[in-house]
Amino acid sequence: MSIAENVKAVKENIAAAALRCGRSPDEIKLVAATKMNDAERVRQAIAAGVDICGENRVQELQEKYAQGTYEGCPLHFIGHLQKNKVKYIVGKVGLIHSVDSVALASEINKRAAALGIVQDILLEVNIGAEPAKSGFAPGELSSAPDMLADFGSIRVLGLMAIPPICEKSEENRVYFRRMKQLFIDIGQKKYDNVFMQLLSMGMSADYEVAVEEGANLVRVGTGIFGARNYALK
Ligand SMILES: *Cc1c(COP(=O)(O)O)cnc(C)c1O
Repeated sequence: MSIAENVKAVKENIAAAALRCGRSPDEIKLVAATKMNDAERVRQAIAAGVDICGENRVQELQEKYAQGTYEGCPLHFIGHLQKNKVKYIVGKVGLIHSVDSVALASEINKRAAALGIVQDILLEVNIGAEPAKSGFAPGELSSAPDMLADFGSIRVLGLMAIPPICEKSEENRVYFRRMKQLFIDIGQKKYDNVFMQLLSMGMSADYEVAVEEGANLVRVGTGIFGARNYALK
């Protein structure tokens, strides 16, 4: 299947999942997880109608950015972000999905302030409490927004999660459901600079379940581009 055919199929699946639970398909945006796909392939996905491009690695983003790859399409950062790389992406991406600590949020705030902009971010939640994964522990999330309220150059627009790898997509439903509950709980508390509008969850293996549980940003790589060839890098 071509990239264009894959994008069409993924969008149809998203729409069907939305309709199954009484949501409007328009509420859900498809983020193409573009890692390890070159400018040409990313352009094909954009032409086929993905809503957003999501990059994982700062260097790869910079290379493709310089080539004009993302023109006409919003760009997000979705990968693990080191503090010393923050300066390369603040102001370049519309949203950073993967803010996993107050220290990282503070660095983003500092850079955004220097540029005179407000950078939109999501807080990454380690919803499966996996030791090897980054993200705020669900229990930490109640105190994080208080600490972020003083950062006037960032705006927290929601939450993001990468649940444990599962064999069947149904196994992650419980995590998606917990994310939705955290999203609602935090939204009800009305912190400064914190607006629970975006819930980024679901990847190729489980995005339909994520949509059924309330995701409005799904990040799909393999389902659009096919399997990544890690041997090339
Ligand atoms: C690679 C990646 C995805 C997409 O993964 P697939 O399983 O290929 O769809 C989504 N989110 C993040 C953060 C990723 O790194």
